[in-house]
Amino acid sequence: MIGKSASPGFAYGKIVILEDVFEKVVSKTSTDIDHELSEFERISKIVVSELEELSKNATTEDQTAIFEAHSMLAADPSFKKDIVKLINEKSLVLSCAVKETALSFMAKFEALDDDYFKERALDIKDVASRFLTKALNINSSSLRQLDNDVVLIAKDITPSQTAQIDKDKVRAFITEVGGITSHTAIIARTLEIPAIVGARGILESAANASVVAIDGLKAEIFLDPSNDLLEKWDRHIEDDTKYKEMLFKYIDAESVTEDGHQLSVLANISSVEDTEAVLKNGGEGIGLLRTEFLFMEHKTAPSEESQFEFYKKIALAMGDRPVTIRTLDIGGDKEVDYLGLDPEDNPFLGYRAIRICLDREDLFKPQLRAILRASDYGNLKIMFPMIATHNEIIKAKEILETCKKELHAENISFDPDIKIGIMIEIPAAAVMSDVLAEEVDFFSIGTNDLIQYTIAVDRMNDKLSNLYSYFDPSVIRLINMTIEGANKAGIPVGMCGSMASELQLTELLIGLGLDSFSVTSGSILSVRKNIIIANKDECHKLVPSVLAAKDKEEVLKIFSF
Ligand code: PEP
Ligand code: MG
Repeated sequence: MIGKSASPGFAYGKIVILEDVFEKVVSKTSTDIDHELSEFERISKIVVSELEELSKNATTEDQTAIFEAHSMLAADPSFKKDIVKLINEKSLVLSCAVKETALSFMAKFEALDDDYFKERALDIKDVASRFLTKALNINSSSLRQLDNDVVLIAKDITPSQTAQIDKDKVRAFITEVGGITSHTAIIARTLEIPAIVGARGILESAANASVVAIDGLKAEIFLDPSNDLLEKWDRHIEDDTKYKEMLFKYIDAESVTEDGHQLSVLANISSVEDTEAVLKNGGEGIGLLRTEFLFMEHKTAPSEESQFEFYKKIALAMGDRPVTIRTLDIGGDKEVDYLGLDPEDNPFLGYRAIRICLDREDLFKPQLRAILRASDYGNLKIMFPMIATHNEIIKAKEILETCKKELHAENISFDPDIKIGIMIEIPAAAVMSDVLAEEVDFFSIGTNDLIQYTIAVDRMNDKLSNLYSYFDPSVIRLINMTIEGANKAGIPVGMCGSMASELQLTELLIGLGLDSFSVTSGSILSVRKNIIIANKDECHKLVPSVLAAKDKEEVLKIFSF
């Protein structure tokens, strides 16, 4: 079976299908009440002892506490009493009785305006799901309760679910939907977990299998693989580890081409924890901090204070190294319920990112103030996403100026010369780059969006992924135009879209005149290695033929080696 590569690497493990088992419950009455009741007793015992076992074997205090609480819930007399009552009084089959009881318990907790109780509602759902997988006899699990060495299989995994994945337990994941630059795929690469997306039919084929092996780069999936294949995979995993060890010789090296041109390799992150992997991999700074995940993790917008703490921690972790903080880029595949945004027919072309922020100063100003305050603790830069027009930059800068004035009046220190940049990810901005460059201190090219808008191909749609290509000459021409625009105004230009880590293109990007690459931490050393062995004059010679290419196949021919 095959899907699309989202994150490279070899892995295998026990299959865990992530699905909402609540959706599998069909409303039904039973003709054999005694059977439902005795099944309930039998399954209750299994669930409680399973949870006790999990809590005994848990490796952290947090896990122990979760499993203890879950086993108490599973044995809770009022929970059990309600299930029995529904079976006796309404003749419901066991699965329906469990689902109805869980939903009514969850509703009570959810009605309380408190994050702690809302979490308890999720606990009830987890415990009830355990009952349901047994009552319905299906192989399914929840992200919050995983064994070791598992491969997750799901229709889709949302970006916030991906962020909850425990890297020590999950060997890989596979989804039915999604494209290679969906945010789910991007997080998989940040976590350095092999992943395949767009694997149509995987849920059905995996339903009766127990183990799966994947090749994340070739996007190949092997259900219930032979021992021979697993041995081969062990060798590949060992080779990958050796390759990574070899790359470590570049850890302290400078990102300078063979003929002496200084570049830099930065990292894309979305959390404080991510800085650890960046430093471990020799990252020279942060080229993109995706702040929207901070907003997605919460039930309400994070306050100025909590954002300040978040940015300050990252600034301190990175010391003198630059940290580029991108302002809220919500919308598209990144949803935030509490913003109360109306559903749209074309969310990627809709009300998102800077368009929301310019409208909603109640969201934008606390973020800008928090970044400014944190700029006193490190080398911070501000970057605005989804800029389409000159006027948007002017307005964003005006709001930033107001924030600076306010902080100044409040005697709060910040870096008054903080650098301001924009993402070039809309073709309009690339075309107008010479004009826009006059207003800012740097550009960063966001190829993930630039490609989808240039070729009019939804980055999430796996049916169109043959059109979505880093090698499309239309995209490369826009990148060239952006760099020329930046050069005219004398400002640096980096790239933080996933194209920056496409190793076949490092030379071309150097030849076009890119100053910095911002990639996931796992790609830092391989990009640096490519820079060190490159000669900029030679790289430049590649440019005319690429710009003259008539389609991506012609470009691919130039770079296939
Ligand atoms: C991009 O569009 O290339 C980018 C880096 O931003 P995001 O992937 O978060 O949209
Ligand atoms: Mg983008």
